[in-house]
Amino acid sequence: MSARVLIVDDVPANLKLLEVRLSAEYFEVVTATSGAEAIDIAERGLCDIILLDVMMPGMDGFEAARRLKSSPATMHIPIVMVTALDQPSDRVRGLEAGADDFLTKPVNDLALITRVRSLSRLKMVIDELRMRAVTSHEIGVTTAVADMVSESGEGGKILLVEDRASSAERIHDALAGKHMVDLESNPQEALFRLAEGKYDLLLLNLDLQEFDALRLCGQVRSLERTRHLPVLLMTEPGDQARLLRGLDLGANDYIVRPIDKNELVARVRSQIKRKRYTGQLRESVQTSMELAVTDALTGLYNRRYMESHVGTLVDRSAARGKSLSVLLLDIDYFKAINDTWGHDAGDDVLRDFSDRLRTCIRGIDLACRYGGEEFVVVMPDTDIGVATMVAERIRRRVAGDLFPIQNGQRQIEVTISIGIAARSVPEDTAAMILKRADDALYRAKRDGRNRVVADAA
Ligand code: GH3
Ligand code: MG
Ligand code: MG
Repeated sequence: MSARVLIVDDVPANLKLLEVRLSAEYFEVVTATSGAEAIDIAERGLCDIILLDVMMPGMDGFEAARRLKSSPATMHIPIVMVTALDQPSDRVRGLEAGADDFLTKPVNDLALITRVRSLSRLKMVIDELRMRAVTSHEIGVTTAVADMVSESGEGGKILLVEDRASSAERIHDALAGKHMVDLESNPQEALFRLAEGKYDLLLLNLDLQEFDALRLCGQVRSLERTRHLPVLLMTEPGDQARLLRGLDLGANDYIVRPIDKNELVARVRSQIKRKRYTGQLRESVQTSMELAVTDALTGLYNRRYMESHVGTLVDRSAARGKSLSVLLLDIDYFKAINDTWGHDAGDDVLRDFSDRLRTCIRGIDLACRYGGEEFVVVMPDTDIGVATMVAERIRRRVAGDLFPIQNGQRQIEVTISIGIAARSVPEDTAAMILKRADDALYRAKRDGRNRVVADAA
């Protein structure tokens, strides 16, 4: 799906010019002739990106940007300021008003398309993350967006890859007051350092003398640890072919030599700001997904998660002809623990038990709290004999040491019973295996508790 771009300009001829170029690249275009009209369109959710003219009668572009970025309904929409004033300081002013990028009139085609494309990618990521975060109801995305707007984009850690000493020095001086800049002249070393250190930006000379800088661009994007790292290219005028390759390989933005200090500062700031914002959103989505699949008391997976995964595990083990075992564990006379020592003591026991359980199983085993004091462990690549040994180990780990309750002031004896079943015939489903484990658990309870019983099938 192509992004919908809102162009805002009080001069109809300017609107037409940008509209034609963007339509040619298959962007959908909407137009507005004033700041107020633009805000109205944005509030109704009718655009993904806004190209905003600075000089307009009434509300100027800076003011419109400021208002758009301070309203929760529109603050996540990327804004590109379009300025006729060839005043580099306006770029900085635009960013201060909350703009994400800027273009100078007359607008260069490559610059226009690159920036709109890069921002539409950003917008898609943000939309996706917002949607997931909202559906899982766990976090205030609005807070994350508000933080983004107030985020200064300063204090970043930058790796400058440049093999010309004089240029390196100038760039370093331009950024040094606001960021930490490390210099590296060898791209292979650079890749190591990027993977190791927590960098916020790679500032890369596209025309290194001894190495092909494009290779580094590609490597940064394919390496898991640097996949989300912003890359800002520095390029010679007239080297469009290489620049296009670099942007294709995933570079986020570029700056043409001779480097204007203000533009450099502004572009660096804007990339760092974006990185922090999407990083934060990504983290909160991660957290909310974790919350959605784990049990709050014990930190184990919850029943819903287990049920959505156990089928896949069973199918996979069947397809590969591997074994798979399931343990069903239940704390003995748990109701009596609650009745005697109180509900909090019961909770302490559940937590302590879960910690012990975790130490007895492997990383690939799936352990979940199945119900109140019932637990399930799904063990791939494990036959019933090995599963029985593991279950015995868990049983001893519980019965062997007393459980502290009431802040460690008292210790009580706890035991568990465990039923085990394994995948046996190809038609076996997760539900059938769990049912046999439940039958085995019933026998363990009936035969006196504190014991392990394996299904005979
Ligand atoms: P059995 O040996 O046959 O398993 O007996 P039991 O008492 O363990 O089994 P029963 O199913 O009768 O009781 C389980 C109790 O677990 C009842 C319920 O109040 C308690 N329970 C369930 N969830 C929680 C919880 O989150 N915290 C606490 N403290 N108790 C819980
Ligand atoms: Mg019980
Ligand atoms: Mg029970």
